[in-house]
Formats: sequence, C-alpha cells, structure tokens
Amino acid sequence: MSDTRPRVFSFDLGSFKVAALLDAVDVRDNLAAAFAPGQSPRAVQELAVSNSIDPVRYDHCFIPTLVDTGTEKILFDTGFGDDDSALLQCLRDLGLEPGDIDLVVITHGHPDHIGGLMNNGEAVFSRARYVFGAAEFVFWIEADTVREARLNNRDLFRRICAGLADRATFVAPGDEIVPGVTAIDAAGHSPGLLAFHVESDGQQLLIWSDAFLHSVVSIQRPDWHADLDDEKEQSVETRKRLLNMAADHRLLVAGYHMPFPGIGYVERVNGSFHWLPVGDQLNV
Ligand SMILES: [Zn+2]
Repeated sequence: MSDTRPRVFSFDLGSFKVAALLDAVDVRDNLAAAFAPGQSPRAVQELAVSNSIDPVRYDHCFIPTLVDTGTEKILFDTGFGDDDSALLQCLRDLGLEPGDIDLVVITHGHPDHIGGLMNNGEAVFSRARYVFGAAEFVFWIEADTVREARLNNRDLFRRICAGLADRATFVAPGDEIVPGVTAIDAAGHSPGLLAFHVESDGQQLLIWSDAFLHSVVSIQRPDWHADLDDEKEQSVETRKRLLNMAADHRLLVAGYHMPFPGIGYVERVNGSFHWLPVGDQLNV
C-alpha cells in the first residue's frame, strides 16, 4: 500500500491562516544516542515504555510552517529542498506557487531548514524577502568557531544564504518582523536559533523550531542533552524557559520535529511537561 500519510494541516489563528507542511519523514535508529547520551539505558527504556513508544526507533518529521497574515504569506523554514520537493507539493495543495511567498523566515542555518531556499543556483521563492537571525547569520558566514561536525553545514550555508543577504532583514530576539510576529531567543541547538510568537485577535502560536527535537524525550526530560544541540546547557535553559512559557500561557505550539502535524500544547504533569498533540480544538 502506498504512503497515505497526510502532508498538509491548516487552521485559523484569529484572522491569520496557518498551515503545517510536511517536507520529509525519516525513521531513525538509536533514540538514546540522539536524545539521551549519557543517560542510563534503563531510564531511557522506562521513559519509552511509559509513553508507549519504541525504545530504539523513532519517526523524525520535518515540518515548515506557513502563516498567511492576510497581508503577507510567511514561510518559516524551507525543508531540505530537491528537484522533487515535498514542501513545494504541499504549497501546491494549498493552491500556492513558490512565487506567492512574500517572506521566508529562517529559524537557523541547518540543512533541513535552509535547503529549500535555492534550486540549481536559483532562488526558489522568487519574489520573497528573507529574515535571518543576525547572530545565526554571522556565526555561519564570519565566525571560525564552527565545530568539525558542522563544517559541511557551514559550506552549505555560505553557498545558499550568502547571496540572499541583500534581500534580507537581520533580526534579534524581541524584534517584531511583521505586525503580530515576534522573534524569541531559542539559542542552544544552534548559536542563534530563533523561535517566533505569532498572535492574531488574541489567538497565539509559538513556533519553537528545533528547541525540541523529540516529542517525548525533549519535553518530559528537558535537561537531557541532545547529540545535535551545539550548546548543551544553553539548550536545556532554552527548553525550560519555552516549556514554562507555553504551559503558563496555554500557547498553541508548532514544532518542526514533532510528530505531524507538529501542532499541540504543553501541559504540566508531575513536575515536568508533556506534549499534548492537537485534537479537535482548532475545529470548533
Ligand atoms: Zn531541524
């Protein structure tokens, strides 16, 4: 049977329209090495069993977010990008062509977020302006502190993003990029990772990008280190701050690597937190 997994999930947020777009899914091995290095196998096993997930294999989704404010169509991250881009097919399912995107916001410079910006040396989103985090852009373009494992990523970033600078705005945490959309510090996973707070008519959405990489481990055990986080302790502080923010304000959350559609809430449970995937809340 062919893959019938849905790829687009759209809903209203106040007067805005939001869509989660599934660019890719990867089933991977070794949950513990990715999200719990240094933890006891028993602790990982118990966490997996108590959440009814496989203790070894995990499903890793890649979910850019589209926000249509009514004035501008804003795409947060661009997926991996290739000639047969699933993200572009998702946009077509919504009746949109790449040229309809007004603004592309890059949360950070990793390949699964920037890869879809260019195809064969051409800007895919031909009319778009860009938003980059200033610290993130400087890190990849100028700094010499890129760790060994990220050197290919640095070359990719320079190849894809350097030429977009003259059409880009560089922002810092706290900056409003368009009315209702504000950048939030989420550094740790990458040096300048940005999350975004989106608000329309009192309805709120937190786009937390890669501050959380797994819907069970990163949220229920925010102080466990993830292999892919550049700054481990800073990532822990970021996760705790964003979890408290999401739970205190009962924010709707869009998580790039959460299970599709990657839309949910954070609830407090027994001194920690749980991911509560969206049910019918957005339908009524
Ligand atoms: Zn990512």
